[in-house]
Amino acid sequence: MRIGSRLVISFAVLLGLLFLVAVVSLSHFGKLTAVTQTIVDVQAQRVALAHTADKRALSAANCLLRLLQTSEREQRIPLYTAMDADISDLDAAIAEIGTLAENDLNMRSASENAQLDHLNELRSSYDDLFRITVETIELEGPARAHKHFVTKTQSALNALLKETSALSERQQRGMHAGLEQLRQAEAGARTLVILISLGALLVGSLLAWIIARSIVKPVREAVRVADTIAHGDLTQPIPAGHADEMGQLLQSLGVMRDSISSREEKILKLAYRDTLTDLPNRTLFLEEFSRLAADSTGAVLMLDINRFALINNALGYPVGDLILRVVGKRLNELSPSPRLIARLWGDKFAFLLADANKETARAFADAILATLQNPITLDNQRLDIGGNLGIALYPQDGEDPSTLLRRAEMAINFAKQHHVDFAYAADIGDEPVHEHLSLIGEMREALERNEFAIYYQPKFSFNTEKISGTEALLRWNHPTRGLVPPMRFIPFAEQTGFIREITPWLLEQVIAHAAEWRRQGWDIIPSVNLSTLDLIDPWLVEHISGLLQKHGLAAGQLCLEITESALMEDPEIALRHLNQMSALGLKLSIDDYGSGQASLAYLKKLPVNELKIDREFVTSVSELPKNAAIVRSTILLCHELGLSVVAEGAETAAELDWLQHNHCDVVQGYGIAKPMPLADFLPWVSAFEQRAGKL
Ligand code: C2E
Ligand code: CA
Ligand code: CA
Repeated sequence: MRIGSRLVISFAVLLGLLFLVAVVSLSHFGKLTAVTQTIVDVQAQRVALAHTADKRALSAANCLLRLLQTSEREQRIPLYTAMDADISDLDAAIAEIGTLAENDLNMRSASENAQLDHLNELRSSYDDLFRITVETIELEGPARAHKHFVTKTQSALNALLKETSALSERQQRGMHAGLEQLRQAEAGARTLVILISLGALLVGSLLAWIIARSIVKPVREAVRVADTIAHGDLTQPIPAGHADEMGQLLQSLGVMRDSISSREEKILKLAYRDTLTDLPNRTLFLEEFSRLAADSTGAVLMLDINRFALINNALGYPVGDLILRVVGKRLNELSPSPRLIARLWGDKFAFLLADANKETARAFADAILATLQNPITLDNQRLDIGGNLGIALYPQDGEDPSTLLRRAEMAINFAKQHHVDFAYAADIGDEPVHEHLSLIGEMREALERNEFAIYYQPKFSFNTEKISGTEALLRWNHPTRGLVPPMRFIPFAEQTGFIREITPWLLEQVIAHAAEWRRQGWDIIPSVNLSTLDLIDPWLVEHISGLLQKHGLAAGQLCLEITESALMEDPEIALRHLNQMSALGLKLSIDDYGSGQASLAYLKKLPVNELKIDREFVTSVSELPKNAAIVRSTILLCHELGLSVVAEGAETAAELDWLQHNHCDVVQGYGIAKPMPLADFLPWVSAFEQRAGKL
C-alpha cells in the first residue's frame, strides 16, 4: 500500500475513534441530563405530595381526636372546617400522585399501583367510618362517638396513616433509587469513555508504530544505497519489493546509479583508452606501472613506426589512422601477451613486461618486429611498415615509468642512428642533466600549443647588394620561462628524437613563408637547419619534395644547412641523402665550417653549394691576423671549388668591410640584423633595401 494511502487510513481511523468518543460522551451526557430532569421534575414532586398526604392524614386524624373531646357544638364547627380541608388536601395529593404515576410509565410499577389502590380503599373505608363517627358525635354525643371511634374508626385511621407514611417513604426510596441509578449511569458512561479513549490511544500508537516502521525502514535502506553510491560503490544491489513511494525512490536511485555507472565507464574509457586503437593510453600505462610490486623486475619497451609522419603526409591522415589501428590490433594479438600495451601518442606504442629480463625483453621485441613485417594492404596497395624499439629494464634503467619511457625513447633514437631494429637504454649514454628534464617533457605539448616560433636572420649578398637569403631559427615562447634560445632545448630535442617532429613542422612553415614572399615579388632563399637525426631519416627527401609541391616552391628556392658533426655521425648515409637532395635541386650549405675537423678535401666530394664559416673565425677577423688568414684562404679555396661563402656572426662595420674586401659572397650577423619574428622580416628587408639604394 502506498504511504499516502496508509497515512490517510490511519488518520481516518484515529479521527473515527475520536468521533466515537465524542458521540458516546454526548449520548451519555444526554441520558444523564434526562434522568436528572425526571428526578427533579417527577420524583421530587411525588415525594413532596406523599409527604403532604401523610401530613394531611395526620392533621385530619388530630382534628377527629379533638372533635371527640369537644363537647360544645359551637367549638366543633371550626374543627370540622379544618378537618374537611385536610381531607380534601389528602385526596388531592393522592389523586395527584396517581396522575403523576400514570404519566410516568417508567416509574410506575405494579406494586405502586396496588399501593395506590389500597390507599384509596383505606381512604374510602375510613371515610365511611369517619362519617359514622361524626354523625354519632352530633346525634349521640362525643362519649358514644368515642366508643365508636375506638372500636371501629381508629383502626381504619391507623391503617390509613400507616399507608400514607408508607407512601411517603416509598416515594423517598424511589428518589434515592433514581439518584443511585443516575450515579451508576454516570460511572458507566465515564468507564466507557475512558475505555474508548484508551482504545483510541492504543490503536493510534499501533498505527503510528506500523507506519513509522514501514516508512523508516525503506528510508534507511535508501539512505544506505545513496551512501554506497556516494562512496563510489556502484555494485551494491538495490533492495526491491516496495510497491510504494519508497519503492519508487529506490528505483530512481537504481536508475541514477546505473546512469552514473555508465557515465563513469565512459569517462574512464575516455581517460584511460586511446579512442583510435582502443588500446590503453599513457595514463593507464603509468597507473598500471604504479600497481606493480615494489620489488618486481621487468621491462618497458617503446615502439616507433618507421616513416609514419611521411605516410600521414603522403597518403593522408585517414590512412595513417587505419595503419595505427591495424598495428594496434596486431600488437594486441601478440602471444604471450605483455602485462599492458598502450598507445602513447602518434606512432608510439609502449609495452609493460612484468618479471622480464634482458633476454625475455629481447624475445618480445623480436615478436613485435616479426608481426610488423607483414605488409599492410590498403585499397590493393601494399604498404611495408617497420619499426624501431627501445628497451628499458627496471629497476636498472629507472624506477619510475616516466624515466623508463624516456630512456626507452632515447634507445629508439639510438637504434635509428645506428640502423638497428632495437637498442637497450643501458647501451646509450647518461641522461641529460636534471634542469632540462622538465623542458624535455614540455616540448611535445609546446608544439601542440603552438609555442614554437620561427625567427628569420637576413643574409646579405655583397655581390648583388641585396638580401639574398635568410636563416630560419627556432624560438620557444615558453609560458613561464619566456623566449627560450634554441641551444637550451635543441640538443635535447635531438637526443630524445623529438627533433623529428619539430623539423617537419618547421619545414612546412618555412616553405609556406618562402612561397608567400615569392608571390609578393621577393627573391629570398630561406635556410633550414637539419640535425643528425633529420639527415639520416630516409624519408626526409620525399617529405620535403611533397611540401615543396604542396606550397608551389621550387627546390632551388630552399637551402638546407648541415653541420660537419651531423655529417660525421654516419658519413655514408649522409652522403647518399645529400646526393638525393642535390638531385632534387635543393641548395645545400655546410654550417659551422671550421669548428670540426672536416677537411675541404672531404667537403669537395659533397654536393653542396655553400659553406658557412663559423662565427669563431669571423669575430674580430679585421683585428686578428690568424683569423684573417684562415678566412681569406677558405674564401679562396671555396671559390676554386665553386662554393659560395657565407661569413657568420659579423657584428662590426670593420668586420663587414674586411669581408667585402676579401671577396666574401654573403654575410650573416648582427652587423646586418639580429634574427627577427616573421612579421618584422619583410618590412625590415624593404626598409633596408631602400636605405641601401639611397647610399
Ligand atoms: P647556427 O645554425 O650556427 O645559427 C646561428 C646562430 O648564431 C643563431 O643563434 C644566431 O642568432 C647567432 N648569430 C647570428 N649572427 C650573430 C652575431 O653577429 N653575433 C652573435 N653573437 N651571434 C650571432 P641561435 O638562433 O641562438 O641558434 C643557435 C643554434 O641553434 C643554431 O646555430 C643552430 O645550430 C641551432 N638551431 C636554431 N634553430 C634551429 C632549427 O630550426 N633546427 C635545428 N636543427 N637547429 C637549430
Ligand atoms: Ca645554421
Ligand atoms: Ca652556423
